[in-house]
Amino acid sequence: MVISYQIKNSLYINMTNHCTNRCVFCVRETAPETYPNLWLERDPTLPEIMAELSSYNMLNRFDEIVFCGYGEPTCRLYDMLEVCRRLKEVTATPIRVNTNGHASLILKENTPPLFKGLVDCVSISLNAADPETYMRLCRPRFGEDAYTGMLKFAREVVYYVPKVILTAIRGTVPDEDLERCAEIAREIGAGFRIRDLIE
Ligand code: SF4
Repeated sequence: MVISYQIKNSLYINMTNHCTNRCVFCVRETAPETYPNLWLERDPTLPEIMAELSSYNMLNRFDEIVFCGYGEPTCRLYDMLEVCRRLKEVTATPIRVNTNGHASLILKENTPPLFKGLVDCVSISLNAADPETYMRLCRPRFGEDAYTGMLKFAREVVYYVPKVILTAIRGTVPDEDLERCAEIAREIGAGFRIRDLIE
């Protein structure tokens, strides 16, 4: 069970394979054999995650610790935040969460304030400049509420997390949609990054 992995000088935490989207471009859908180790037979428990992380006796040597795996980390938001809390006790390494922005929909509560002081960067998959395109590309479990819910999360989390970045993927939408996505990010007060499909 691969709970953590390293890419370059970042440490990644793979907490769950659950996700509230089924994006047409997701490697889970298109090439599930690409990173077979990231398929978990079950979600690791909090003690298992902490035991794994304690095996890195020099957490400070990483540039970043990132919650990102074969699933949506905020499907386990409370556990994820508890891991952040414990990491903050032992390292100043910045913590990033890569998310689809559905945390408040999943928990049925307003979640952005919970990130305060625990998460340094949130990268939110905007993916589309309008709800219809989002529905087609991301096939969200929350249906038409997903896009507005994700944007509401993004609008609010900028007040609690120092760095917020919205992302979209080159080639999945027309270039003019990427420009509209960048405009949405600007309006929210977030950064914007265009990702390549194989990341
Ligand atoms: S939100 Fe991320 S993990 Fe979930 S289906 Fe989309 S690309 Fe895959």
